[in-house]
Amino acid sequence: MIARTLFTAFKTSILPSSSSQLLPLFSSSPCRSVTTLVLAEHDSGSINAASLSAIAAAASLSKHTSISLLLAGSGPSLHQAAQHAASCHPSISQVLVADSDKFTYPLAEPWAQLVQLVQQKNGYSHVIAASGSFGKNILPRAAALLDVSPVTDVVAISESRQFVRPIYAGNALCTVRYTGADPCMLTIRSTSFPVPAKSIELASNKSAVSEVDLSMLDVDSIGKSRYVKQTSPEAERPDLANARVVVTGGRGLKTAENFKMIEKLAEKLGAAVGATRAAVDAGFVPNDLQVGQTGKIVAPDLYMAFGVSGAIQHLAGIRDSKVIVAVNKDADAPIFKVADYGVVGDLFEVIPELLEKLPGIK
Ligand SMILES: Cc1cc2nc3c(=O)[nH]c(=O)nc-3n(C[C@H](O)[C@H](O)[C@H](O)COP(=O)(O)OP(=O)(O)OC[C@H]3O[C@@H](n4cnc5c(N)ncnc54)[C@H](O)[C@@H]3O)c2cc1C
Repeated sequence: MIARTLFTAFKTSILPSSSSQLLPLFSSSPCRSVTTLVLAEHDSGSINAASLSAIAAAASLSKHTSISLLLAGSGPSLHQAAQHAASCHPSISQVLVADSDKFTYPLAEPWAQLVQLVQQKNGYSHVIAASGSFGKNILPRAAALLDVSPVTDVVAISESRQFVRPIYAGNALCTVRYTGADPCMLTIRSTSFPVPAKSIELASNKSAVSEVDLSMLDVDSIGKSRYVKQTSPEAERPDLANARVVVTGGRGLKTAENFKMIEKLAEKLGAAVGATRAAVDAGFVPNDLQVGQTGKIVAPDLYMAFGVSGAIQHLAGIRDSKVIVAVNKDADAPIFKVADYGVVGDLFEVIPELLEKLPGIK
């Protein structure tokens, strides 16, 4: 019975297309021309999904916006990514490439100086990055160098200088108007700016790719941070921030060993694994899996929460999920107030039943 209820949630949220998504408001500012610099992240020769969302946000600033994409790095994968960038969205007019071993790893200090250099040369009206660790690290530093205040965590664009952003752990939305000097610098939540399928297909027109002149950049004198190493999850799982299905475990799992049930279920569903802060603090999983106000913001088609109470800080990260399923043995747990499907029951009975009865989607 429980498995059937949850299978219904799984079917209705995953199987149909998600064409009913609300798109951010579109409006153009009649009096100012909009020229936007998007700070892009690339991986294995492609622009990553969050940066594609930043491009989608930039394209919604104005009907006649001109977008330049800034990529930095070194070696062949940078130039491969530049070719991908040149054809990944029809609104991109130019791809700027900063090729130097100083940019092999995305350290904030040289990147911030690069943004300052490019901005001073080209005078963009807007600078945008996705609100991930890359954008949150670089954009505020660049804003300080350019002496402007950034607007962070934008979830909708109502005019080219008017934005909506969450406050009070996502319990209220605030509309802000930027009245400062150019550039207007934004970080955007990628979950709020879905990438239209057609922009993922390669655009027929390739935009120009040009190298940034780095002779004025004194990168040797900068850098309080140093690259040490990058660790990636071993298993091939979808990226938590962009996954269509997320399976999350909370303190109710009790041990790291038990948490493996969540991983098994996620594997079966082709889902990303998430965790509450309590589960992370208890050492069940590393903190890059934390979902919530101080973790990742997710907006999957299906969010499944096991042994999660539903604290406001956790809910702040899952509000945009299309279907929320909660399993908790406490009928009064706050998670049930936001859940579309709820099971009051013991997760140690429910998960094994799901593992047995749910079909895999791989
Ligand atoms: C500034 C600040 C920022 C924070 N940021 C975040 C954040 O980003 N993300 C986040 O998650 N939290 C965050 N927190 C912490 C948050 O307030 C909660 O403490 C946390 O979310 C609780 O995690 P939990 O639901 O796993 O644990 P608990 O609140 O302890 O809930 C465990 C739940 O498991 C249920 N349970 C137990 N055993 C079983 C069982 N066998 N079967 C079924 N259900 C069972 C219980 O009924 C309970 O509801 C933040 C807190 C602060 C102050």
